[in-house]
This record gives sequence, structure tokens and C-alpha cells, in this order.
Amino acid sequence: MILTDTHTHLYSEEFSEDRNEMITRAINAGVSRFFIPSIDSTYTKKMFDLEKQYPENVFLMMGLHPCYVKPDTFEAELAHVEKELFSRKYYAVGEIGIDLYWDKSTLEIQKIAFKKQIQWAKQLGLGINIHCRDAFDEVFEVLESEYDENLFGIFHCFTGDLEQANRVTALGMKLGIGGVATFKNGKIDQFLNQIDLQHIVLETDSPYLAPVPYRGKRNESSYTVLVAQKLAEIYQLSIEEIAQKTTQNSKDIFGI
Ligand SMILES: [Zn+2]
Repeated sequence: MILTDTHTHLYSEEFSEDRNEMITRAINAGVSRFFIPSIDSTYTKKMFDLEKQYPENVFLMMGLHPCYVKPDTFEAELAHVEKELFSRKYYAVGEIGIDLYWDKSTLEIQKIAFKKQIQWAKQLGLGINIHCRDAFDEVFEVLESEYDENLFGIFHCFTGDLEQANRVTALGMKLGIGGVATFKNGKIDQFLNQIDLQHIVLETDSPYLAPVPYRGKRNESSYTVLVAQKLAEIYQLSIEEIAQKTTQNSKDIFGI
């Protein structure tokens, strides 16, 4: 069984005590493909170190996270993203998007950064990894304005309703499903069976959003198995079938 964690912050400080054990635990559990979103330039070196240590397992994305789009620094940060994207191989542009939960005052520059990074993804033939929090309409406004046959990617940590899920998949985007699918009040488990499995990829967003029974604790990539188990229940399939299909979906996006 090969499971793919399409969104995991393996470089997080939360793993500084036991990072290698945590990664080994995941690989032994069948979670052997890790796609690493970028946040800002301060993490780039740590991402390279992980890639070097786990060349078979770790695949990097590059992008500026919307919460790190700040008036004084975003131009330099975007220049860093551009330089990186055009100088070596990355597997997607991410995580990028709009977050109005933490800071509404930066909406305008968040939109600028999101658009710019989508344009680079399209130029490079890469998918995007979208972070969207309390900003579904704003994200859609940008996606629709940039929509063409070169736009594709993953709507990371999807927690919307069925109608929103259908809007995402209609744009050719996959839904990144993680721990929230296991929450009692997470809601998405109630309609996921109405979404074709071809639109679903798995993720943890570690160290955040741990699935039940670890809810509230530190998340890690081995828990992708728990998300896969939940989907196996929802879709009435075996966990191996869920693994096979969602890993194939991840390959369609990342090209590997
Ligand atoms: Zn993330």
C-alpha cells in the first residue's frame, strides 16, 4: 500500500525532537510520499535538507503562504519564490491563497501575491496548492479570473459544503482531504460519497489538524492512514483501493 500525504510541514519546529522517527513511522505505515508546502523563505533551507535526506520520499513545493504576505516583505518574498521556481524543480506552487481568518487588512496584497503565483504555475506547467480560510468567495474570484486550460491543482484542507466542493472540482481542482473528515462536527464526511473519488487526494497538514483519535494533539504523516480508513468507510472500499486511487490522483497533479 502506498499512501501519499499531499500536504505536510515536515520541517516544522514541532518535529525538532523526533523528526526522523516520525518520518520512519510514516514510511513503515505505508505513507511513503510526502509533498511539502512552502510558507516563506525562512523554511527553504530546511526543505532542501529534508529533500537531501529523503530523496525517494520528499517532494517540494514553492510558494508564499497567504498569512506571510505582509506589506513590508511580500515583494522580496515573492522575488524569492520566483527565483526558486525558475531555477530548479518543484512539484507545485504552494501553499498559496487567501486567509481572512488571521488578518483581513492584507486582503489586497494577498490577492496580488495569489494571482502572481498562479501565473508562474501556469507558465511552468505546475499545479497549485491552495490555502483558503474564511475566504472562499475571494479565492474563487481570483481562480475564475485566472482560469484557463493550464490551471490545475489541489484545494488544500477542504472544509466547505457540497456546492463548494462541486465548484472546486468543476475548475479541475482536487479536494485535499485530511483530519477534518474524521471530526464528529466536520460535516464533510456527510457528503463526500457524492463526490467522485477521482477528485480526492489525502493530506495531513501536519503538525496541524490531527484526525480522531488524536484530535487536538500534534499531527503527523503516519495519520494519513486514519484519513484513508475514514474514506474507506465513506466510499465502501478497501483501504488499499483508497490508497491506490488517491495516490494516482496525486500523481496526476504533481507529475510524480
Ligand atoms: Zn499548510
